[in-house]
Amino acid sequence: MARYDLLVKGGMLVLPYVGTVRADLATRDGRIAAIGADLDPADAAEVLDANARLVFPGAVDAHYHLGIYRSLAEDAAEETRSSLVGGATTVLSYFRTGQHYLNRTGAYADIFPEVLAAVDGRAYTDYGFHLAPMDTAQVGEVPTLVGEHGVSSFKYYMFYKGFNLSADSRDAKSFTMSDEYDLGHLYQIMEAVAAANGPDRRVSLSLHCEQSELMRLFIDRVRAAGDPQTLKAYSDARPPLTERVAIGEATTLAGATGCPVNLLHLSSADALDAARAARAALPGADIRAEVTLHHLCLSYDALTGLGGKVNPPIRTVADTEALWAGVLDGSVDWVASDHACCTEEHKGDALWPALPGFGGTALLYPLLISEGMHKRGLSPARIAELASANPARAYGLWGRKGNLVVGADADLAIVDPDLEREVTTDLLLSGQDHCPFEGRKVRGWPVATVVRGHVAYRDGAVTGEPQGMYVTR
Ligand SMILES: [Zn+2]
Repeated sequence: MARYDLLVKGGMLVLPYVGTVRADLATRDGRIAAIGADLDPADAAEVLDANARLVFPGAVDAHYHLGIYRSLAEDAAEETRSSLVGGATTVLSYFRTGQHYLNRTGAYADIFPEVLAAVDGRAYTDYGFHLAPMDTAQVGEVPTLVGEHGVSSFKYYMFYKGFNLSADSRDAKSFTMSDEYDLGHLYQIMEAVAAANGPDRRVSLSLHCEQSELMRLFIDRVRAAGDPQTLKAYSDARPPLTERVAIGEATTLAGATGCPVNLLHLSSADALDAARAARAALPGADIRAEVTLHHLCLSYDALTGLGGKVNPPIRTVADTEALWAGVLDGSVDWVASDHACCTEEHKGDALWPALPGFGGTALLYPLLISEGMHKRGLSPARIAELASANPARAYGLWGRKGNLVVGADADLAIVDPDLEREVTTDLLLSGQDHCPFEGRKVRGWPVATVVRGHVAYRDGAVTGEPQGMYVTR
């Protein structure tokens, strides 16, 4: 029997917080078993020639929406397949009760096992879930979800107290199916999440920051002005000021409760400013910041149609550059896709009822390398931190995911930094039939993605059956 299952020979290993080193890497039983200058191919059952390409730790795509518009089973199969294209080997998906998803409410004690059963055996990547306590009874489930189900992150949506998901209805109560969904509810969630933290365990609350009372005014104004059906109108209707105010509210409560928070998908210069200001005002608080690929790389004036409708909206070029500056100066902790498979049929041809979101997981490493490394000088190690190590640390995966060290899961993205491809829907292997990044030339793609020692994707095609497993955190 061979000493190793897989040997990755001749690669440049990208070590977060350290740098890039030329070394071989061998795996056994799904974990990294050896790293060395010259490991013997005769010791391995399978050899993958990395040929001086970059070997990244598999990305942890920390913002994802399995099952939001289609079944969990279908999304698990088709969307995690797309993740392999972008070098993601773990996805952390948001789930909540209420409209969309399973379209009902109830106890997570009943519903969460059903979610896990629907995904089981179908995912190509490892996966975990962030859960949103939507009503008071679910807040009471936080200790059990942490202790028994390995869920160490939760979510609150600041604008659901006033609007539904597409912002075409203010009947928020039938959308959330909740008893109370206000700042009082948020405060209770933060108390419960703060209490679940231990010396070795970060339990956190993720926040979608848009302020619904201001949205009401600006949406009414934009619609009264003649209802222009553009992404610019959508941004005007939920402007960066709504993010700034929501971040102020959320971080004030985080400071008061001691709850670790993640400010999700900051979309604008204003939002990033507000996050920096909150950190400065609350030096003891644990406040982490996320940006998405689309807020970094898309602006509304370069897009036509409604495929790019998303919450928070796509902004201006100046906003994208402010977010890149935050990535470069370290204000931003990680980059995620906020992947939600949303077809053209889901979008329709009217701005307000169009469902928000779209896929992007297949572009996680490619866009960071193309736009971050080639165009803006981000180092490979820093890219590994943004895509893998930092989300792994924030969400209870550090030690297993996010790094190339002996003993960690053998999750790898082997990237050719000079491979250039134009984005097409075919290339991305997702169930989504359009893509706001379509036509963009991107330089730097995974040529192989390895999930726990199995080569799951190679040269543009998935290899083998889904092997993804649920990760407790
Ligand atoms: Zn999202």
